[in-house]
Amino acid sequence: MAGTDSMHGAPAGVVRVEKSDVHFACDSMDTITRAGLKAGFGMPYECNAGGCGTCRFEVVEGEVEDLYPDAPVLTDRDRKRGRKLACQSRPKGDVVIRQRLEDMYIPHVHPMRQEYTLVAIKDITHDIKEFRFRSAKPQRFLPGQYAQVFIPGVSAPRGYSMASIANEPQTDWDFQIRKKPGGEATTALFERVKVGDTIQIDGPYGHAFLREDSTRDVICVAGGSGVSPMLSVARGFAASSKLKGRTLHFFMGGRAPRDICGETELCELPGWGTNIHFHPGISEPGDTDWKGKSGFIHEIVKETHGETMPEFEWYFAGPPPMVNAMAQVLIQAGVPLTQQHFDRYF
Ligand SMILES: Cc1cc2nc3c(=O)[nH]c(=O)nc-3n(C[C@H](O)[C@H](O)[C@H](O)COP(=O)(O)OP(=O)(O)OC[C@H]3O[C@@H](n4cnc5c(N)ncnc54)[C@H](O)[C@@H]3O)c2cc1C
Repeated sequence: MAGTDSMHGAPAGVVRVEKSDVHFACDSMDTITRAGLKAGFGMPYECNAGGCGTCRFEVVEGEVEDLYPDAPVLTDRDRKRGRKLACQSRPKGDVVIRQRLEDMYIPHVHPMRQEYTLVAIKDITHDIKEFRFRSAKPQRFLPGQYAQVFIPGVSAPRGYSMASIANEPQTDWDFQIRKKPGGEATTALFERVKVGDTIQIDGPYGHAFLREDSTRDVICVAGGSGVSPMLSVARGFAASSKLKGRTLHFFMGGRAPRDICGETELCELPGWGTNIHFHPGISEPGDTDWKGKSGFIHEIVKETHGETMPEFEWYFAGPPPMVNAMAQVLIQAGVPLTQQHFDRYF
């Protein structure tokens, strides 16, 4: 079991999954979900933020600490039945849990928590900045994945998606992050964290990574700061020898022209203008001189690709209403769930 230092919390307990041989240690900086994934098990999860409910489980023996008692996704029925969220639970000593593990959740890259130094900050839009963190040891991730970022003074880590691709031996992880008015983590990050500061980052996590074995053309749809993982997918696409000759359409949605970004990075990629195409759209053009498309981005995508939608591999990220609307459009168009890869920013 892990020792106690700045990187490893004190041991919290051993988690056993009932009716199986699965057991793993969890330390006092981890959760049941993250500790199980680090041990290589298929712990069900999506957001790691208490928002989606994929990691619901029950405690059979022992006690757990509830790290987010007000998590909105848990219903009264869940609470009455003793259901909890594994991504927001930590054992208080040894515990036995009831949860169905699935191979599809086994990590392709084992997550690891380690120290990173903030080495650069760049303005992207009026409310999005790019933060470049450099790790002590190299750590891989797949294009489109996210990490849990521990910001000093913030009660719980937050999920942020990498905009870059992993390129060992370089150890830089870039994140494009939108400042949420009044938000606890983003206020700390934008106003208090300075270049040279060190923080802990745990990752990678997430299933919305680039499928290099797909033979389909690709569509990326970004809502707001969902641009971050979509840039990573586009960069991974451009660098992939397996996807050579394929086409990628990148849709970027915002409210107003000042929210649109991503083109600067995309136009540096090989294939820009021939295999890689940018389609911005805004939902509130008002009296601006916007010449592009107007409407919600899922409607613009539908208008543009219509009946050809099942032919593509789909990646999308952003606020839950945008992602849910996009998924709905794809389901109605007959796009199988296996071709839809997304993250909702709870
Ligand atoms: C998978 C994923 C990837 C993401 N990627 C990005 C990205 O690339 N760029 C970006 O700008 N944003 C991203 N987000 C959103 C980001 O994680 C934050 O929700 C956002 O930055 C606002 O955080 P805040 O603390 O400023 O706001 P707040 O309103 O203070 O907190 C927002 C969220 O933090 C969580 N939270 C709040 N309190 C607690 C608590 N006590 N315990 C546990 N959780 C709590 C909840 O999920 C809540 O919705 C992502 C979210 C997820 C789930």
